[in-house]
Amino acid sequence: MNATSQLDMIAQEISSCTNCPLHTARTNVVPGEGPPTAPLLFVGEAPGAKEDEFGRPFVGRSGMLLTELIKTLGMSRDEVFITSILKCRPPGNRTPTHSEIEACRPYLERQMEIIRPRFIVLLGSVAISSLIGPWQVKDAHGRFYEGGGYTFFMTYHPAAALRFPRIKQIMLDDFQTLKRELELCGG
Ligand code: URA
Repeated sequence: MNATSQLDMIAQEISSCTNCPLHTARTNVVPGEGPPTAPLLFVGEAPGAKEDEFGRPFVGRSGMLLTELIKTLGMSRDEVFITSILKCRPPGNRTPTHSEIEACRPYLERQMEIIRPRFIVLLGSVAISSLIGPWQVKDAHGRFYEGGGYTFFMTYHPAAALRFPRIKQIMLDDFQTLKRELELCGG
């Protein structure tokens, strides 16, 4: 089976997933989207209201900023793969629980394994703590981390940048660090 079909199959499984209670309240699952050959895999926290409504990742205000940040890399949104730690919306956008993260983890791990991107970009503390460990985003942002055969890059979640202009500037700087590294390894 080719990589696109494998990703489609994961999305299909997610659409009928009942592994945690979040399935009872969802309108749509949000498996993620992008090409299987993407050099970058972005991982957010969990779908919000817009994402739940449309079944697509980062289509609300945070998504507009993420799209803008991706452009600063000289890339477009459809060249990268975008997903989140959770594939269903937590009620009222509350922080994902440990058991929800564990229930959803195998889907993300399979997506990572199929895509094998150059860098996995972790957006915010939930993505960082779920995939790397209890590292505060204020200390971790702008850094690369090697683990499990992947190279992770850590930065803030765009929602934080929408609230605090200072963080938007930090994210712009982090994306320049990422761009330089992408250029060094040949795009
Ligand atoms: N925030 C996330 O972490 N993921 C989305 O898909 C949308 C907003």
